[in-house]
Amino acid sequence: MNNIVCSKCGSDNVRCEAMVNPNTKEFDHFTDESFYYGWCENCGLGTALTDKEEIRKEIREQYDRFKEENGCEPQYANCRIVQSDSGQVRDVRIMLSPDTGMADNGIFFYCHTLEELFALAIPGKGSFTLTECYSFALLTEREEMERQIFKCEVDGKHVTVSGREILFFYGQHYGIRPEELERYATEYFCHIKHYREHGYPLLDRSLVKGILEKEERMAKGETISFALQISFLWHVRVTKEDDSRYAPYRYALNAYCLDNPQCFDRRYTTLEKALLHCLNRFNENATVKNRYRTMEEYLAQK
Ligand SMILES: [Zn+2]
Repeated sequence: MNNIVCSKCGSDNVRCEAMVNPNTKEFDHFTDESFYYGWCENCGLGTALTDKEEIRKEIREQYDRFKEENGCEPQYANCRIVQSDSGQVRDVRIMLSPDTGMADNGIFFYCHTLEELFALAIPGKGSFTLTECYSFALLTEREEMERQIFKCEVDGKHVTVSGREILFFYGQHYGIRPEELERYATEYFCHIKHYREHGYPLLDRSLVKGILEKEERMAKGETISFALQISFLWHVRVTKEDDSRYAPYRYALNAYCLDNPQCFDRRYTTLEKALLHCLNRFNENATVKNRYRTMEEYLAQK
């Protein structure tokens, strides 16, 4: 059984550099890089060579060592691979768990079992060949959080978000702990992601006119939604409450910034006042002059 083969096609018809005694022609040893720059007669190319049995042994040893030192199963392997098409050599991380389906930076491939990892070391089977296994390891706490997936329903639609998206939206300074991630995900961020992707119409003159025209026909509990561009992009919902508990207020406004975590909630006596406040960029600072004193002024403007 010839174990040293071309990492591209698996052929054992290969050549590599070695140190020999020039007088006796006696073989001494392979040079350090000899498996790296081998020659495959089958491919007719210089390719990396690999020792199928050696790599299998290496994976097993590294795996056993990890379990002995850590007392748990590893989550991924640090490996060297050779791409079959380009012959490019890369150091990558291969997970020992199924793919979450979300873009996962820094993970090259997913194996479900150790057996699948062994199989990657057999050339000619897939798009790459595993040629070395350096070590097994665990993900960091942050990486674990980034890989988590949350699902929730917003306005009757299923929304899926990853921990990575949530951590990116809130930024480092929020210092979200693993046990808090789900709370951040479902209560707030799923809505933000949904609003971003759903493409609500931007509040402009024709939308303002349209909303005001249908005000009379708006039923109690009905909601209108639109996008509002201030410095950041916002998602705004205005609901006709008509609830005596909030009299004289009849309309509730809930606005969510889509670029960073901030929201805004108010009640208004009329729909016109709610929209005017949006057009005045939610200005509540008495020393800052409103852009529009009245809706007429906004609508009359060229
Ligand atoms: Zn070959």
